[in-house]
Amino acid sequence: MSDIFSDFRSLGLGDLSGADLYAEPERPQVKQAPPVVKEMIPVGEKDLLFDKSYDCPVCGQKFKNKTIRTGKNRLIRIERDLRQVYTPVDQVKYDVVACPNCGYAALTRYFDSPTRMQVEGVRKNICVNYRPQTWGEEYYTYEDARLRFQLALANAIAKMSKSSEKAYICLKTAFVLRGERDALDPAEPGYEEVKKQNEAMEMEYIEQAYDGFVQARLKETYPMCGMDEPTTDYLLAALAFEVGKLDVASKMVSTVLASRSASSHIKDKTRDLKDEIIEAVKKSAGK
Ligand SMILES: [Zn+2]
Repeated sequence: MSDIFSDFRSLGLGDLSGADLYAEPERPQVKQAPPVVKEMIPVGEKDLLFDKSYDCPVCGQKFKNKTIRTGKNRLIRIERDLRQVYTPVDQVKYDVVACPNCGYAALTRYFDSPTRMQVEGVRKNICVNYRPQTWGEEYYTYEDARLRFQLALANAIAKMSKSSEKAYICLKTAFVLRGERDALDPAEPGYEEVKKQNEAMEMEYIEQAYDGFVQARLKETYPMCGMDEPTTDYLLAALAFEVGKLDVASKMVSTVLASRSASSHIKDKTRDLKDEIIEAVKKSAGK
């Protein structure tokens, strides 16, 4: 199906690739991994990190992962699709917890709580095939982060996670790719090509995130991935806008603006998005 599974094979998990992300894992299909160009890592990234200890709920081993020291990284803006941009460290790179021993990995918020059935799914589909990885000694590069998110996605498929969890992994992977693009050095050879591939890959993840949240909205209850209903509806509007579904975006915007429980922050974001939709509609009508 898509390039979003491209790194499964290097993790030893090629069999989980392909298939519909929101259905059962089936046919293997792996495409080439995206090229890697030198990235600019902010000075002092390692100083904002520490090794946090975890007990793996799947294999029982103790291990350590890099984590951001809270309070030292500064939020500078929140983008249309709720990507939080921090300086100096792109925090989303550290949002997957991965056991180096057995390959179990999940977004931080889901790591500790797999059900017994899910643990079985991970053992059967991940642990038996997993090739141990070494992640950054001092910090995680964007390549490390992409692989860790791929591992989290493979685990989400193996443990038959809810659509919202898979959609959230896809959304955050899109954020990793966006951060990676910002960190690319324009002076590097092949910059334009890599940037283009990165953008295309990001769009695939945004599309997957959109599809997943559409399904989640029909089947699941709130809070969803820590978001209340108006926030989820706003996010869906933003993703619909980004994938070019202006009618859906517009409908969701009206829903949020009519909501009594939406926060003023979300209403403000929604009004901004409404302006963007109006502009886009005008533009497409003028073509
Ligand atoms: Zn483990």
